[in-house]
Amino acid sequence: MRTTTGLRATGTGTLRRTPLERRDLRPDDVAVRIDYCGVCHTDLHSLRAHDESAPTPLVPGHEFTGVVTETGAEVTGFSAGDRVAVGNIVDSCGACAMCKAGQENFCYSFPTLTYGGTDRQDGSTTLGGYSREYVVRDAFAYPLPHGLDPAAAAPLLCAGVTVWEPLRALGVGPQTRVAVAGLGGLGHLAVKMAVALGATTTVISRTQDKRDDAERLGAHGLVVSTDAEQMAAARDSFDVVIDTVSAPHELAPYLQLVAMDGTLCLVGYLGTVTVEAMDLLAGRKRLSSAGSGGRPATAEMLRFCAEHGITADVEVLPSSQVDTALDRLGRNDVRYRFVLDMSDLD
Ligand code: NAP
Ligand code: ZN
Repeated sequence: MRTTTGLRATGTGTLRRTPLERRDLRPDDVAVRIDYCGVCHTDLHSLRAHDESAPTPLVPGHEFTGVVTETGAEVTGFSAGDRVAVGNIVDSCGACAMCKAGQENFCYSFPTLTYGGTDRQDGSTTLGGYSREYVVRDAFAYPLPHGLDPAAAAPLLCAGVTVWEPLRALGVGPQTRVAVAGLGGLGHLAVKMAVALGATTTVISRTQDKRDDAERLGAHGLVVSTDAEQMAAARDSFDVVIDTVSAPHELAPYLQLVAMDGTLCLVGYLGTVTVEAMDLLAGRKRLSSAGSGGRPATAEMLRFCAEHGITADVEVLPSSQVDTALDRLGRNDVRYRFVLDMSDLD
């Protein structure tokens, strides 16, 4: 076993610095020194749901960048010193129809998640990227393109690819009218990507507060979701609505915004939702969802972001301030992603 340092949940919603073990390298593994790890709202959901008496520890973190320090005997695609990025999937069966189609994120036997997942070989629980080192199968590490700042690029690996896949799958381009509901980590990257794809892009936010930011991100407008008049005026006007809202909410107001034959894609809150069939019937509207990304889409997304200079707007904090980052994220006080600098874990 290898020893590193990480941040482990205490059960009170806070994290404590602690030694962690990583597996010895398998032939197709790479060891990554983690330099930056994004703080995703999913980390907050996981911490809130975590019970300290649980048999396995929780170390969150599933969007990180760093440098390869060592490679397994059969690794040919990476060498020590390479800049890499890792997202929220670290393995899959590789044999099912989804994996064969390059959609490892939908693996029939469930993709191995970067944290809280079950390692396919030894059955151990995976510990995430709030840590100084990670050991990962080479197939699930991505070369970090030149020109992308490693701190600001870390959030591309979860927040970014989660919105990229549906934008691409729904054919978003210059003719598309896109709305992004919830301007947070996922939302601000969805705006940047939709704009770069040429779409007319609108932000749906609860207040006016983010109007200037929306414009700066390239959006063509902002609709305040709590303003009935503005919502009524925007009725049936978007081909694609990407819903990144992190809390349970009614879908009806967002379905109202979808144009005829358009799609509301839920990527934010992933619990049980209730839908009135009539809200879909009137206008032949579609409801869909998406999560994370397969290997081809992740690599494509990184290339696109490098080409278009897209990274997250980040506030970088030393990992010792993780509790502050999580507390502020929970209060919606982030513009637009916290990223932890892991160098203080040495
Ligand atoms: P975030 O940065 O906190 O952004 C969420 C945004 O949702 C907020 O900025 C806010 O936007 C809006 N919002 C929050 N509470 C709301 C409420 N009660 N009603 C309406 N809007 C509300 O979170 P994130 O990291 O982008 O993650 C968003 C969600 O996606 C989380 O639930 C996360 O778990 C989920 N997620 C899913 C996947 C996946 O694979 N599908 C991957 C990553 C994350 P405004 O201030 O503009 O209103
Ligand atoms: Zn995430």
